[in-house]
Amino acid sequence: MELLRSKKGFICDMDGVIYHGNTLLNGVKEFVEWLYKNDKKFLFLTNNSQKSPKELQQKLARMGLDVSAEHFHTAALATASFLQSQGASTAYVIGDAGLINALYNVGISINDVDPEYVVIGETENYNFENICRATRLVNKGAKLIGTNSDITTPTEKGEMPACKALIAPIEAATNKKAYFVGKPNPLMMRAAMNRFHEMNIHSPDVAMIGDRMDTDMVAAIESGLDPILVLSGVSSRETVAKFPYRPRLILDGVGDICD
Ligand SMILES: [Mg+2]
Repeated sequence: MELLRSKKGFICDMDGVIYHGNTLLNGVKEFVEWLYKNDKKFLFLTNNSQKSPKELQQKLARMGLDVSAEHFHTAALATASFLQSQGASTAYVIGDAGLINALYNVGISINDVDPEYVVIGETENYNFENICRATRLVNKGAKLIGTNSDITTPTEKGEMPACKALIAPIEAATNKKAYFVGKPNPLMMRAAMNRFHEMNIHSPDVAMIGDRMDTDMVAAIESGLDPILVLSGVSSRETVAKFPYRPRLILDGVGDICD
């Protein structure tokens, strides 16, 4: 625990670590106060591409937590920086404002006629017409990208289809496999780490806190970050035994970190 408390940087998954649905988890307020008080640098990470950092800031503010927008890193931002690094300039997008804004911000324009890329993220504006259009564009040569490889996402109404489930009909119809950017792809972690590097903080000084063995912990291990599992989300102690790798520490929740 002392090793964890001595880290300079903290990357925290959000769902199951900070909140569940629209409810802040126990101990989170104290943990965020501890981060600020001890001058720790931190990023809140989410594979969901629907919301922009500003919208996430507002979501947390509604739950009574004050965290400024630069502390958020999303699969939408990671997808935008990946596409920028690939020299992309046009994309057809099935996704929400968080994704579309992130792409605009790196100079990618939306094109539904002859785009270089078809990019799929989570959205409620998902319909037969845009699946057909995406299929046509991929068949014409556009590259197929998913913001993250989650199949479902927990909501207050239960498990809902997430990016990988939404992209599946397009993959099936085109016989093409999408490339997925979010966790556990180390691209997502590298993009987050780049923001720490600017502050001269490097991977041995960073802990990754998450609630999922199959995304958060594997991403932490493969990126050389201290893997810390919390049991406030989907994993239990029994879950851990099913995986060929282990977190360094298992905590009930992030509140345990405050001294
Ligand atoms: Mg989570």
